[in-house]
Amino acid sequence: MFQTLRYDPVMSPDIGELIDAARRVQGEFALSGDFAAGSVGAAVRGASGRIYSGICADLACGLGFCAEQAAVAEMMKSRESEVRAIVAVGRDGILPPCGRCRELIAQIHPANLDGLVVVGEGRVLALRELLPEQWLEAVRASRSAPNAGG
Ligand SMILES: [Zn+2]
Repeated sequence: MFQTLRYDPVMSPDIGELIDAARRVQGEFALSGDFAAGSVGAAVRGASGRIYSGICADLACGLGFCAEQAAVAEMMKSRESEVRAIVAVGRDGILPPCGRCRELIAQIHPANLDGLVVVGEGRVLALRELLPEQWLEAVRASRSAPNAGG
């Protein structure tokens, strides 16, 4: 079983630093028409220890994107894909990632299922706890099985 990890911002300055980075980029601003960006800010810490941030875009017709996506894209510009920890922050506080962002993080590096996701004030979970019955691990296990394939 997986254990819910709890963090103390004083005892875990790396998480606190990540939250601060997300808060620094969060802040909604108007785009053209009725659209806006920045209502959510996100920050991701890569395996290098570097922090990358991003903001969301709230657009119509499915054209928008999440702050986590933007932060991950920023990280990949430095050719990193292993996520040690990620957080998203809205105007009213920390937001857990949507299902699409959970899947995105899981797919870009196999170690990311053990990456930490800040899901609320003082609450940190491993990504695999947010994605039970992992299909990717089942596929990877079947590929590495001695009689896998056909
Ligand atoms: Zn999302």
